[in-house]
Amino acid sequence: MVRYLKQAPSKSFADTSHADVAQRVGQIIEEIRSEGDAAVRKYAELFDRQSLDSFRLSDDRIEEIMGTLDQQVIDDIVFVQEQVRTFAQAQRDSMQDVEIETLPGVFLGHRHIPVRAAGAYVPGGKYPLTASAHMTIITAKVAGVPRVVACTPPIRGEIPAATIAAMKLAGADEIYLLGGVQAVASMALGTESISRVDMIAGPGNAYVAEAKRQLFGEVGIDLFAGPTEILIIADDDADPFVIAVDLLSQAEHGPDSPAILVTTSTEVAREAIEHIERILPDMPTKDFAEPAWRNWGQVIVVDDLEEAYSVADQFAAEHVQVFTLDPSAALTKMHNYGALFLGEDTCVSYGDKVIGTNHVLPTLGAARYTGGLWVGKYLKTVTYQTIENAQSSAELGRVLGRAARVELFEGHARSGDVRAWRHGGEQFEW
Ligand code: NAD
Repeated sequence: MVRYLKQAPSKSFADTSHADVAQRVGQIIEEIRSEGDAAVRKYAELFDRQSLDSFRLSDDRIEEIMGTLDQQVIDDIVFVQEQVRTFAQAQRDSMQDVEIETLPGVFLGHRHIPVRAAGAYVPGGKYPLTASAHMTIITAKVAGVPRVVACTPPIRGEIPAATIAAMKLAGADEIYLLGGVQAVASMALGTESISRVDMIAGPGNAYVAEAKRQLFGEVGIDLFAGPTEILIIADDDADPFVIAVDLLSQAEHGPDSPAILVTTSTEVAREAIEHIERILPDMPTKDFAEPAWRNWGQVIVVDDLEEAYSVADQFAAEHVQVFTLDPSAALTKMHNYGALFLGEDTCVSYGDKVIGTNHVLPTLGAARYTGGLWVGKYLKTVTYQTIENAQSSAELGRVLGRAARVELFEGHARSGDVRAWRHGGEQFEW
């Protein structure tokens, strides 16, 4: 039986996406479609206090920006990028091309072809999300994308130096200081200063996620990676203090970030709530974490772990931490999540910033049908076929003639007939 020790005003993540966001985003996209750079400039100035002639950063400018950073910052970026690259490369290596012979001389195959141009959106409205540069750009480059365009907004009018460095070190081919709907629409539609790309990847706030949703079709997208979510599954051995710290670590992303605890222990639940109430008032990022916890925080007590997995599956949360005696059981018990963090020695923040798995993950229930960003998202799996045996071609031609006529496709049937005739000697009346 499910009991709520703390309930959110709304239990549905989907309630965080509002009709007015959709309407606003639609209007900005249409202006950029018809007016190009002029509209991009207008909105960049309005939302991000930008008044640049060119949004693109030259190589000299990038070098200058990187020169302002401490060597330790650069070294840490390089270290984390190596972790991300290593895992992405292993995932790429696991994707083999396929070719099989299904009938004598009939060969069917598939190949993975990288998109020609990808846009990497690196968020930066509230925090400079440097790590998103590793996730989007390195993954695209490991997939083999020849042109990677990277965009990030200025943060409170300032250039996010570490993010620009991460973009460059990750291998971005073009870097633009541009954020929000302006960036997504520019990359999707093309303007005077940015040539359009084939797909866009990367996380972002509700405006960015909505822009990707509205432009999907005109451009490919990775997935809906909106405001971040955390759900922790805990048994009575779990440490309530660590739970509290980790829930708040994700709540600080923004006021629309849900943080949920599902536990078999009322005591753990109560203690975790007490720790949160104690930590929150002095948290430097409480302006985001506090409304997130008040509006979207939930603490749910369940009878057993089976029920915990089932409740967690219904949320289909972006991140799920498992603090139980046998955390790896979640690998077989759970079906809907963006990423699992097994045991108390790791956590979502490791995934967000350092460990090497991709942090661009599905939100708002999208984990019911997709995983997160990985090399496969930048690759098109395309098929081919060939027949190197005349008798097989004739035999398939005969089957095609019959099968297509069942569907009343006379033109298709004749394509089969001519091959059966050419190789099998049959005569046809048409
Ligand atoms: P952001 O870069 O996504 O958004 C900033 C942009 O929003 C600005 O450039 C501005 O143009 C636009 N904007 C702001 N107010 C607007 C308005 N009223 N109308 C239209 N546009 C407006 O940065 P952010 O805001 O800090 O958000 C980052 C988000 O990314 C957070 O919600 C975080 O949780 C999420 N995130 C998600 C994942 C994931 O994988 N799901 C990973 C990392 C971060």
